[in-house]
Amino acid sequence: MIPLVKSVYESIKKYCILNLMEYQVTIGMEIHAELRTKTKMFCSSKNDPDEKHPNVNVCPVCLGHPGTLPVANEEAVRLTQRVGLALGGEIQKFSRFDRKNYFYPDLPKGYQISQYKYPLILGGNLNGIRITRVHLEEDAGKLMHDPSGKFSMVDFNRAGVPLMELVTEPDIKSAKEAKKFAEELQLTLQYLGASEANMEKGEMRCEANISVAKAVKPPLGGLTAKLGTKVEVKNLNSFRAVKRAIDYEVKRQVELLESGKKVAQETRGWNENQEITFSQRSKESAHDYRYFPEPDLPPMEFSDEYIETLRATIPELPAQKRKRFTEEYGISADLVETLVRERSLAAFWEKVISELRDWIGEENPKKFLEAMKVAVNYFTSDFLGLIKEKEIPSAAELLMTPENFAELIKMIYKNEITSRVAKDVLRIMVEQGGDPSTIVESKGLKQIGDETELSLMIKKIIDANPKAVADFKAGEQQSLQFLVGQIMKETKGAANPEAIKEILAKILG
Ligand SMILES: [Zn+2]
Repeated sequence: MIPLVKSVYESIKKYCILNLMEYQVTIGMEIHAELRTKTKMFCSSKNDPDEKHPNVNVCPVCLGHPGTLPVANEEAVRLTQRVGLALGGEIQKFSRFDRKNYFYPDLPKGYQISQYKYPLILGGNLNGIRITRVHLEEDAGKLMHDPSGKFSMVDFNRAGVPLMELVTEPDIKSAKEAKKFAEELQLTLQYLGASEANMEKGEMRCEANISVAKAVKPPLGGLTAKLGTKVEVKNLNSFRAVKRAIDYEVKRQVELLESGKKVAQETRGWNENQEITFSQRSKESAHDYRYFPEPDLPPMEFSDEYIETLRATIPELPAQKRKRFTEEYGISADLVETLVRERSLAAFWEKVISELRDWIGEENPKKFLEAMKVAVNYFTSDFLGLIKEKEIPSAAELLMTPENFAELIKMIYKNEITSRVAKDVLRIMVEQGGDPSTIVESKGLKQIGDETELSLMIKKIIDANPKAVADFKAGEQQSLQFLVGQIMKETKGAANPEAIKEILAKILG
């Protein structure tokens, strides 16, 4: 082995063994998501994450002018509570806002209105990871640093936007699991209409608390470890960053411990370009913020009746949909995941299947399964490919309807068109819309099932290609394929190649 490759190999091997066998990784997540409300958290300024001009959606309240008073946004409270209910958490009947005091140029009031002692939600669970709490607060403004380094600018459009914060228990054991958790939460927030949770736009932001400790093998097997020193990594603004930063941080901490050093309790940032974490500041503790009850907002109380009414508004969630689609349609895990992640596509799929069910009726389950198999086939291999190729952002923007697609499946199932033609028709449907029977009719693509008609066409081709016929008769099998190709061309793919071969063989002997 080349020395360099060998040393890299050895260090990877060493790290893998150390990490897996001797160290226990413990991760807790804190995830912020901007809520999708019309107005901001404590004023009537617009909450518009797409606003391009700075300092447009502002008013004296969110600019922190003295003497102004906040009014809580009911919709933001409701959305947070729905998230709590969806995660199986407990809506607190008593909740209140607190002031979190700190100075930063993007925080004009000098404090953030948040929740400390009485959050809206306690408990819950997602993907087997326990949720500690979910609370509501306001976002800060955005700082932009001039490349000259001489000045910075602040945009207060985001100041006061409703921000939900979710904190998990330290139940996560790997970077991969952390990423999966964040992805599932994003999907859940989108299903609930609580947040777009677009990480690229900063609508969802992750932090991870990571600690690593040497595990000891107890006599009865398994591994136990005391929790190591907690390091918080902030600014994880993509799923990729969540995975990479945790992997990096685990490795860094293991290496520190291996060389006999201590891990410092601190907050670290993530450098996206260099893919490293870096020290930002030593970790502050809660008392540094001098939390106290927000005197300008009354505490909130919620009745059982209110909570139950809210519970009834929770839609089918990703995990439920995943389970139902697997059981109901027996489709591959990959297709289930594609549909669960793309709700408009799932709705399209369900409409197609319901059309097929209506057509076949309840009494013939075998026939229904066969037709569904055809549907799965064309949906996965052709339809999804076309959507990708044409860069269609959502099934809602398709020119063809689910009824059109179901109609096409029926035509294939009934052998009215060949699979070659079906592919062409599907492309036309995606590109231009329209129902398949009209397309087939207008382009003369109906399968030529009539043997007399097909025989006539075949005879024509035979007459026009005497050389290929002679070659075939001399034993060249390839010439038969050539003749079949010519006939397919003549019929624009509307003839079944097997039928052509059969008739050809009959005529040519
Ligand atoms: Zn405002």
